[in-house]
Amino acid sequence: MTHATTQPATTLSTPTAPVEIAIPQGQKWPTLDPDKLNLVGMDRDELGEAMRRVGVADKQVRMRVAQIWNWIYVRGAYSFDQMTNMSKDLRAKMNLVYTVTHPELVAEQISVDGTRKWLLRFPPRGAGRPVEVETVYIPDNKRGTLCVSSQVGCTLNCTFCHTGTQKLVRNLTAEEIIAQLRVAREMLNDFPEREPDSNAIVPKTGRFVTNVVMMGMGEPLFNYDHVKQAMLIMSDGEGLSISKRRVTLSTSGHVPNIERIGAEVGCALAISLHATNDTLRDELVPINKKWPLKELLESCRTYPGVSNARRITFEYVMLKGVNDSLEDARQLVKMLRGIPAKINLIPFNPWPGTQHECSDWDQIETFADFINRAGYASPVRTPRGRDIFAACGQLKSETERMRKVDRDRLEAELEALERMRLSNLAGDGMDDDMEEEDVA
Ligand code: SAH
Ligand code: SF4
Repeated sequence: MTHATTQPATTLSTPTAPVEIAIPQGQKWPTLDPDKLNLVGMDRDELGEAMRRVGVADKQVRMRVAQIWNWIYVRGAYSFDQMTNMSKDLRAKMNLVYTVTHPELVAEQISVDGTRKWLLRFPPRGAGRPVEVETVYIPDNKRGTLCVSSQVGCTLNCTFCHTGTQKLVRNLTAEEIIAQLRVAREMLNDFPEREPDSNAIVPKTGRFVTNVVMMGMGEPLFNYDHVKQAMLIMSDGEGLSISKRRVTLSTSGHVPNIERIGAEVGCALAISLHATNDTLRDELVPINKKWPLKELLESCRTYPGVSNARRITFEYVMLKGVNDSLEDARQLVKMLRGIPAKINLIPFNPWPGTQHECSDWDQIETFADFINRAGYASPVRTPRGRDIFAACGQLKSETERMRKVDRDRLEAELEALERMRLSNLAGDGMDDDMEEEDVA
């Protein structure tokens, strides 16, 4: 199914078959020098300190910080040469010790549904070797959602998640988390004064990246400080300007840090629930042994700002014969009573070696109907970007590429699943409704 072809990386057209683009053909930014400090990901105080270190006088620091902030986050600058409202002398001084460039872009893949996946390579930073991270862009008519990673690998090992089979290599820094958003905007020409390709699938109006979900690789609340700093920078109104309501953190349930992130950032929250009793959740989402359902749900009830207008999303992966019975649906509705909630049913995305199967489509519909009748607009999340392995739980770094035989088997399985889904959906117009809901 995946035929790798090459085409210039500057072409944004959405292909009719999945495409893998050879990089660095299109990489116009300077190579990241790991010995230089990157100003990307610093907050204003840190930037001010960095300015002082290259000789900027105290009374000029605020003005210089505002200028650099604007260049990095509003205009997407990746080189000091672009910062034309600063003297050549100051730019040269900064260039000696600092950088503002993006990481290396190893590959770009574009799905037939417009989903894009970028593979980025970051310096080792204690991991022994460079690390690779995948970032996924999911566009529809109204919004463009970027799925961002927070760690390379994961310390947790939820049984249905591919990332969970890879040990934690290291946490990503705030710089590396922000870099994923800046590269996406760069590759989509989603910075001011850029000319986008009219054939790309992007929202019909407004910016191309409108929402961010921390749902890529890793557990964001196990990398608290960097994730918090990155989220505050993303939502800064004088910079990347993605409002806090449109930045969603997804967690498997680190209860103390749910409370902290609510108070200190105030982002939208998604909980990977997946089970309605502790026995099953202990098995599927082992962090449940430390923070069981009662405590988790209590932290949701008291999450700052939660209301019917700002509901918490509960993600529920549909696993055949495991958590997909009508009784599970009943329990789910019962346990969420009193919490302003959205429920996202996610068809399980298979991966080589998994013990799970995706629920049958009829069962997913029966489950969804029950939940809908209980008053939840619970769209079944259409898996996006399956042809480029960009769907939930399929992210895993390049270092662990699949063997061809596994990949072929998986592709056949995915095709069968997709045919089943399409034949079930044919004619009932659900697709449009699904796109109405927030991704998170
Ligand atoms: N660690 C965080 C965020 C990353 S996982 C968390 O667990 O919430 C993002 C979402 O993808 C989670 O809801 C996770 O449960 C779901 N997911 C993981 N593997 C999946 C798979 N194979 N199929 C469908 N969803 C999956
Ligand atoms: Fe880690 Fe989330 Fe995957 Fe669980 S579902 S293993 S917490 S990435």
